[in-house]
Amino acid sequence: MENLQKSLLYLKGVGTAKFLLLQKELGLQTYEDQLNNFPFRYLDKSEILPINHILNPGESVFIFGTIVDIEEIGKQNHKRLVVTLKDSTKSIELIWFQGVEWILKKIKINNQYLVFGKTNLFKNILTISHPEIEEVHDINAIQLHLVPLYSSTDKLSQNGFNGRQLGKLTEQIFNGISENDLPEIIPLSIVNKYKLMSRFLAYKNIHFPKFDVDLQQAKRRFIFEDFFIEQVHLSAQRAYRKKCEPGPHFSKVGNLFNKFYKDYLPFELTNAQKKVIKEIRQDTCKGFQMNRLLQGDVGSGKTIVAILTILLAIDNGFQACFLAPTDILATQHFESLKIALKHLPVQCDLLKGSTPAKQKKQTIHLLKEGVLNVVVGTHAILEATVEFKNIGLAIIDEQHKFGVEQRSKLYQKSALPSHVLCMTATPIPRTLAMTMYGDLDISIINELPPGRKDIKTVHLYDSKRNEQVYPFLKSEIAQGRQVFIVYPIIEESEKLDYENLYSGYEYLKTFFMEPYYKIAIVHGKMDTKQKDMNMQNFINGQAHILVSTTVIEVGVNIPNASVMLIESAQKFGLSQLHQLRGRVGRGADKSYCILLTPSVLNEKSLARMIIMAKTNNGFEIAEKDLELRGPGDISGTKQSGALDFKLADLVKDKNILEIAKKDAEELIAHDPQLQLPENLQLQQYLNLKKPKGWEHIG
Ligand code: ADP
Ligand code: MG
Repeated sequence: MENLQKSLLYLKGVGTAKFLLLQKELGLQTYEDQLNNFPFRYLDKSEILPINHILNPGESVFIFGTIVDIEEIGKQNHKRLVVTLKDSTKSIELIWFQGVEWILKKIKINNQYLVFGKTNLFKNILTISHPEIEEVHDINAIQLHLVPLYSSTDKLSQNGFNGRQLGKLTEQIFNGISENDLPEIIPLSIVNKYKLMSRFLAYKNIHFPKFDVDLQQAKRRFIFEDFFIEQVHLSAQRAYRKKCEPGPHFSKVGNLFNKFYKDYLPFELTNAQKKVIKEIRQDTCKGFQMNRLLQGDVGSGKTIVAILTILLAIDNGFQACFLAPTDILATQHFESLKIALKHLPVQCDLLKGSTPAKQKKQTIHLLKEGVLNVVVGTHAILEATVEFKNIGLAIIDEQHKFGVEQRSKLYQKSALPSHVLCMTATPIPRTLAMTMYGDLDISIINELPPGRKDIKTVHLYDSKRNEQVYPFLKSEIAQGRQVFIVYPIIEESEKLDYENLYSGYEYLKTFFMEPYYKIAIVHGKMDTKQKDMNMQNFINGQAHILVSTTVIEVGVNIPNASVMLIESAQKFGLSQLHQLRGRVGRGADKSYCILLTPSVLNEKSLARMIIMAKTNNGFEIAEKDLELRGPGDISGTKQSGALDFKLADLVKDKNILEIAKKDAEELIAHDPQLQLPENLQLQQYLNLKKPKGWEHIG
């Protein structure tokens, strides 16, 4: 393998200057870097265009012809080279402004060349400047030969490394290495099971495929390898945590849990809730740390799972904390907890940033003494001054706001790292969760409690506002319901968006007049006090309508609200629309979500509206969102490394991911440290790459 660590400087034609340029422009330093720099496309002969078929300047074309004229024009420093290439239909001029001497050495009149480049108009004549050019003696000899093209840059092209010439470097490397330099890293049993192309051949074929089938087999192998390596790494981390990272031992199901379950559970749990509780129970009773992500749509009943887990902790002599992202949510959770546990001997308190200092001190004191069993609050709980007697569980609502840093603050509060249960109402598409959170265990609540009515969602054009939408809102308000109206505020158009918000608000007031109607408004630019007051007016039912930006937090519970009206709905992403919709439908009444848009919509926006009207299922919506936007645009993916694949694509290749994950898990279950002879190559490879967290292993 050392061979691959050699510097590109060892290659013919790469001097110090060019080496530095390769490093700067494409980050290429070693043989290995170059081997992993795959072609971005392959030209094949069927794509060769007769020159008279070229239509537009700006087209990238692949042509084949004979050089019939070579002319140097201009003096010394301003020399340009004009070469005429002719095929049976027509001729075209190829132009070089730089590297003229070098090209002159390469080409000869009457010889035949394959040419690839972008056409442009130069002095009103169709030309190609700085094309990729390659001499071909016999076009039939390359009948099925695919021509790889590499990404290059202007600077590199001018210095002799255009998208074709980069491939020549790879060719040189291949001449100097053997199969031993690219040994198989996937265990042979798996290679054989899926008939994967060997690693060495896959590299060869990804760069120099003779036939399309070879190329497809090479790609298939690399996609599998991408996923498999990642999944082995994640499974190993998970296995390590579950078998080697000591955690609080919840050895029994005790009195509090049993009593609550038997006497005070306000409803029968759904099967999904039961399943999740079982998963948590099994995970916490082994003495190793739990790190679990609980996903479930808004209203799916995550809170009761949290409460039961808290009781499990207390039964085993541990304290618990329950973190929410905002003051309002923390208060709501505290209230539900107090109500749920009022008949049980459980001491519970609330701790927020805004808690008065004296009271805070008291709470902190009681926590440290172990008098309090549970503390609910915001990130204030993580401050260094907050100490526990023996914390064993942290429940975190809306996990995306809880990063690595917060986690480490939490772990500093106890000798054994607490169990962590993160809850989120933003379902993450399965494939994304598998790569982004593959080191966590994942629980899913995929059914809503019985009797829940679907939220009826309609998509309407702005033109219906006066005669259809507003009268409908009035009829709902007349029945005692409340209405959300949400406006988008987007960074790029923030000023205009605020203008829209305010003009919308003024317009609304002419329809919903005081004193018959009361409208509250909240947005991000308001001071917190005013915002809280207006919000409170809506929560306690004084205001009929809440006009807002997206500042109202996920999870805020206002059961009396029955309509969510979203203005300029086309400006929101799918998961955001779904989140907003989740703020209604929490009461006994039928609820509605109205998506208002202009009548002219682009295809993707329209697709979003149609999906929203069709389904209330957050998991389905998350999958569609990933399909429509691609993984790069889903929040959190960039940092996660979920996109660092050579070829694999989370949307297109999701079936392969499922298979690779299963095999990786089986492998790690069987040989967690990868010490068996057949797995040593893989262990060595992972050690060399040192992905995060791999340190414990091997
Ligand atoms: P979320 O998952 O959004 O946090 P909650 O835990 O707030 O959902 O639950 C939403 C509502 O559903 C609450 O009013 C809760 O009491 C109720 N609920 C939860 N589970 C059940 C169930 N199994 N049967 C009936 N109602 C339930
Ligand atoms: Mg909730």
